[in-house]
Amino acid sequence: MRLFDPHIHMTSRTTDDYQAMSKAGIAAIVEPAFWLGQPRTHVGSFEDYFLSLLGWERFRASQFGIRHFCTMGLNPKEANDSKIAAGVMELLPLYLEKDGVVAVGEIGYDDMTPTEEKILTAQIELAREHALPVLIHTPHRDKKRGTQRTLDLLRDLAFPPALALVDHNNEETIQSVLDSGCWAGHSIYPETKMDERRMVEIVKRYGTERVLINSAADWGVSDPLKVPKTAALMREEGIDEASIETLCWHNPVAFFAQSGRLDLDEESKVDQRALFEGNSVLRGQTPRVD
Ligand SMILES: [Zn+2]
Repeated sequence: MRLFDPHIHMTSRTTDDYQAMSKAGIAAIVEPAFWLGQPRTHVGSFEDYFLSLLGWERFRASQFGIRHFCTMGLNPKEANDSKIAAGVMELLPLYLEKDGVVAVGEIGYDDMTPTEEKILTAQIELAREHALPVLIHTPHRDKKRGTQRTLDLLRDLAFPPALALVDHNNEETIQSVLDSGCWAGHSIYPETKMDERRMVEIVKRYGTERVLINSAADWGVSDPLKVPKTAALMREEGIDEASIETLCWHNPVAFFAQSGRLDLDEESKVDQRALFEGNSVLRGQTPRVD
């Protein structure tokens, strides 16, 4: 079974992770633009980051047989820096036109400041103009209120719920997200927030419709194999293969295909002789060529 991790920050992961992910069956990923652990001080740093998501990172994934897509957006933490925010908002329309960009994201609330709301609203409008879905981050503190406020804003802006993926859900938020008509993402973390076992219970209770599972792996303590690990536990717990495939492949495909840019047609053949701007992922190893 091919697996899809619809939310993973590969820029902060190693080639060992790519190898393990490929071996575990992950065939496609979406890397949302996000913050990098500390605030950027120049708009140009965003531009180089966006270019690396479209360039080097997509190439790196391809060298391990993984199809890489990304989302572009200004994250809520850095939205609070008005000088940075204005410059990034100016850049975004250009990057939303690029191949392989399958949504606006990740956007949303963090501290739920008025500035965050202004930038979030502007980016939802950008998504509408570019006919793209949105990938929405919900706050880790005060999650229930943050999620409700997100759903209220989408409704007030009359943004089509079928084009909105609201992420980082838990037992307290999933019902309201599903009731709104939006898609509900779940980030499976080591020890905190949401784990494989709780996810299995959520699937047993709420089913598979518009439900997604991701690792949200980044530079912190996280695990890029959480999608395959959750699939394995679902199997062990008697959830049928068709449901597992719906959650871990068909649902992310259906959601991001709405961008018109989710090109999964040809099989991903690995050719590690390939170079990106003269650079390879290899350091003297024999290239793998399928
Ligand atoms: Zn993220």
